[in-house]
Amino acid sequence: MSFKLIDTHAHLNDVEDITAALTRAKQAGVSTIVAQGVDLASNKKNLEIKQKFSDMDIRLAFGIHPGNISDKEIEETFEFIRDHKSDIVAIGETGLDFWYQWVRKDDEEKKKQKEIFTRQIDLAQEFEMPIVIHSRGAWKECFSIAEEKNVERAVFHWYSGPEDALKNILNKGYFISATPALGYSKELRAAIEFAPMDQILIETDTPVFFRVEDGGFQSEPKDVFKTLGFLSEIKNIDLEKAANLLNQNAEKVFGK
Ligand SMILES: [Zn+2]
Repeated sequence: MSFKLIDTHAHLNDVEDITAALTRAKQAGVSTIVAQGVDLASNKKNLEIKQKFSDMDIRLAFGIHPGNISDKEIEETFEFIRDHKSDIVAIGETGLDFWYQWVRKDDEEKKKQKEIFTRQIDLAQEFEMPIVIHSRGAWKECFSIAEEKNVERAVFHWYSGPEDALKNILNKGYFISATPALGYSKELRAAIEFAPMDQILIETDTPVFFRVEDGGFQSEPKDVFKTLGFLSEIKNIDLEKAANLLNQNAEKVFGK
C-alpha cells in the first residue's frame, strides 16, 4: 500500500512475537498504533514496548478493563496511571461488560464495574483526554454514564449494540470503532453502515482469534488494512480516500 494507516486499538502486551508483528505492521504501512491497557501489568508492559520500539509511533491508553478488575490492584493501577500522565494520550480500555448472564444477575459486580468506569472517566476529564469504552452488553448503560458525566471525547470500541443506543452515541459526537469482525459481524456492519465517516475509527483489537468460519486468523496491527478493506466496500469509498479520512479521525481523538 502506498498510504499509511493508524491502528487505533491493539493489545500489544498480548502479542507473542512483538518484534515480528511490529515489523510486519511497518511493512504493511501502519504508521501509528494506539496500545490499550486493561490492568496494571498490561499498562506497564505497553509502556516498555513503546520505549523499546521507539522507532515506531506507539501511543498509549492506560486503563482498567471491566473484565480485568483486581480488587487489590485498583489503587496501585490508578496511581500508576497518574504517575504516567505524560506518557499517555487516552484512558482505556475501560467501560462495562454485562454480556454474561452471571454479571447481569450480580448487582455487586455491576456496581463495581460502574464505580471503576466512573473513576476512569473522572481521570480522563482531569487529564483532558479521550476515553476508550468497552460496552459489550452494556451499550445503553455506558452511554448514560458518559452522557451524565458530560464526557466530550469517547470511542465506543468494536460497537455491536442496538441502533437506538448508537443514535445517542453519534448525536453526542462520540466515535465508534470497527475491527476485522466487520467482515462477518452483522451487528458491527449495521453500525458502520449507519455511522457517518467522520465518527468512525478502525482497529484490530490485536490479538483477537477469529474463528475459521470467520476467516480463521489471529489479528495483529497489520490487519487494520483488512478492516479498511471491509469499510471501504461498505461505505463505497476508495481505499486511499477512506484511509485519509480515518487517519484524520484517529488524530482528532488520539492526537498528541
Ligand atoms: Zn480491546
